[in-house]
Amino acid sequence: MKFTYEAYGQLIQTIREAGYKITDYHSFHNENRCCILRHDVDMDLGAAADFAQFEANMKEGPISATYFVLISSGLYNLYSKECMENLKRIIRAGHEIGLHFDEKRYLTEEHFDRGYLQECVLREAALLSDMLEKRVRCVSMHRPSKQFLEEDICFDGIVNSYSEKFFREFKYMSDSRMSWRENAE
Ligand SMILES: [Zn+2]
Repeated sequence: MKFTYEAYGQLIQTIREAGYKITDYHSFHNENRCCILRHDVDMDLGAAADFAQFEANMKEGPISATYFVLISSGLYNLYSKECMENLKRIIRAGHEIGLHFDEKRYLTEEHFDRGYLQECVLREAALLSDMLEKRVRCVSMHRPSKQFLEEDICFDGIVNSYSEKFFREFKYMSDSRMSWRENAE
């Protein structure tokens, strides 16, 4: 698959034609065949906001996704005026904002501490909720460690998009820096 807006539109079309309903982390239970779209914003929130608008205006019909953003990014400052405007653009386009969490900011792989990690996620989620004036209800992990995935951690009131349930019951397809983890033809 090419990394163009057009190819993405075709992918969405294929998903819909296969009878899948595009849903989110909170209402997927209501669908028989469901697909959750998620974007982790590692680098460029402006580009993410443009994409969010593209998704909202797709000629095949608007779609909603979850945009996971980092509070601890070295590449964008979420609290800057520009970033806040981009976040608002994403929300106005009908998408959900979730927390993208980088455990390596707090822990080394040798010292994995489940309780501390839970605390840190809740703290960052509270900060992001405060910024957005809207409760953050889901989290995704930025380059999760093996321990994190194995521990299948729950967070109070926040959906862990890396929980075993999503990996066991869903087919997971993802790309990182424009390369698919498996063949997406
Ligand atoms: Zn990431």
